[in-house]
Amino acid sequence: MRDDPPLIEYCNVTVYRGQRIALEGVNLSIGRGENVAILGPNGSGKSTLVKTITRECYPRLSPDSSLRILGRDTWNIFELRSLLGIVSSDLVLSCLGPYTAREIVLSGFFSSIGLWPHHQVQPRMEAKADRAMELLEVAHLAERAMTELSTGEARRVVIARALVHEPMALVLDEPTASLDLHATYELRRILRRVAGAGTGIIMVTHHLDDIIPEIGRVILLKAGRVFADGPKEQILTVERLEALFGTRFELVRRDGYYHLW
Ligand code: ADP
Ligand code: MG
Repeated sequence: MRDDPPLIEYCNVTVYRGQRIALEGVNLSIGRGENVAILGPNGSGKSTLVKTITRECYPRLSPDSSLRILGRDTWNIFELRSLLGIVSSDLVLSCLGPYTAREIVLSGFFSSIGLWPHHQVQPRMEAKADRAMELLEVAHLAERAMTELSTGEARRVVIARALVHEPMALVLDEPTASLDLHATYELRRILRRVAGAGTGIIMVTHHLDDIIPEIGRVILLKAGRVFADGPKEQILTVERLEALFGTRFELVRRDGYYHLW
């Protein structure tokens, strides 16, 4: 019997952005239910990796390259949203309009930002939206305007929006960027619960501390290439992280988290 295809599979993916090569011959495969971190310095190609899934960036065509989601080369946004909940800072920014938090979460069902007169919100959608808001601890903010939320609150609302379809995995591009310490801690705690509830977490980040204990595999990205990929304990060594970031560090492991000093 054939094995189930991986959730996401990059085969020899090369992406140019302008004249610059942003990803070069990337091979990586992420299975269903895997919790993975993609770690790399600024400019290493992390967001390009995510934007290739959403077709905001296109790989260079060649016979031996492909990007497959559940074994398929082509998919549309409606199929994609029920497989992967992708949250980028661009998405969060576009959600900061004249909508309530509840409208933003419900609009996940229509792949829109906010609700429009032709959208028919059904009771089952409301129930799922309520559940997602409870999981992200934003239920009390449901009627608040998105423009009046803190950065951390708005980000949690947009993650709840991505969860309404019960995707196999959440893809989070720098979810703790520009959050203060408290908001960062809260988001990591909540994401641990999301992972515990069975949604895969694909954490794209340059912060080692974003690697919540539930994440077992780490992929290091350096200058558009996969620099290392494997079990967290094997990949996160001080030598590798120094080579990745080009700085001297001390690596400390505590309570399932890794920190650099
Ligand atoms: P990361 O998310 O790891 O910081 P990116 O994927 O955003 O990295 O960027 C990878 C490379 O692509 C970098 O060299 C960056 O300068 C370049 N790049 C990013 N966005 C653009 C753009 N809109 N136009 C041209 N080059 C870009
Ligand atoms: Mg980025």
